[in-house]
Amino acid sequence: MLNIVIFGAPGSGKGTQSAKLIEKYGLKHVSTGDLLRAEIKANSPLGQMAESYMSKGQLVPDEVVIGMLDELIKKNSDVEGFIFDGFPRTLEQGKALDEMLEKNGQSISLVLSLEVKDEELVERLLKRGEISGRSDDNRETIESRLKVYYDQTAPLKEFYRRQGKLHEIYGEGSIDDIFAAMEKVIDSFAQ
Ligand code: ADP
Repeated sequence: MLNIVIFGAPGSGKGTQSAKLIEKYGLKHVSTGDLLRAEIKANSPLGQMAESYMSKGQLVPDEVVIGMLDELIKKNSDVEGFIFDGFPRTLEQGKALDEMLEKNGQSISLVLSLEVKDEELVERLLKRGEISGRSDDNRETIESRLKVYYDQTAPLKEFYRRQGKLHEIYGEGSIDDIFAAMEKVIDSFAQ
């Protein structure tokens, strides 16, 4: 099993690179952002609750996203591996993920952290807002998402560095060059 966490600030390219990783390595993509947006679209109680946080750029409570993931991991015990995109986002989620995988005799193999400077992140997110109309890609919400990232999510880098799993990838430049840098890390792990 190859279980990868793709890590980085909002707009760092996690979704784009995940799509390429899935294609090459046949992994199951788990994006908590996509799962939550599907709940909002379905207008489920969970979706309504999640939207009140997401529209402000805040995190959805840990117990909610951890619950969603627990079910998903159990249901997919036959996959080649997972790519976790947008999860974990807090230390609590990181610890819970380790425990959920351990219960199934698995663990995180690698954490790939996409490093992009703030000005570039803001520019990318504003552009995405114009094109896709994603409602949280507006200047005000972007600012709170970045703050939340540095306050609550970035500490996970130290958590994974201590486990010897963190690989920082320069996340600016062409999509293919960034992907090539990730491939290098994965292929040297898998050998
Ligand atoms: P981005 O990385 O560009 O912010 P995502 O689609 O990953 O986009 O997340 C969008 C929003 O969904 C987040 O701002 C947050 O409100 C919510 N969300 C996604 N994943 C999580 C998570 N693991 N824990 C809490 N909230 C989450």
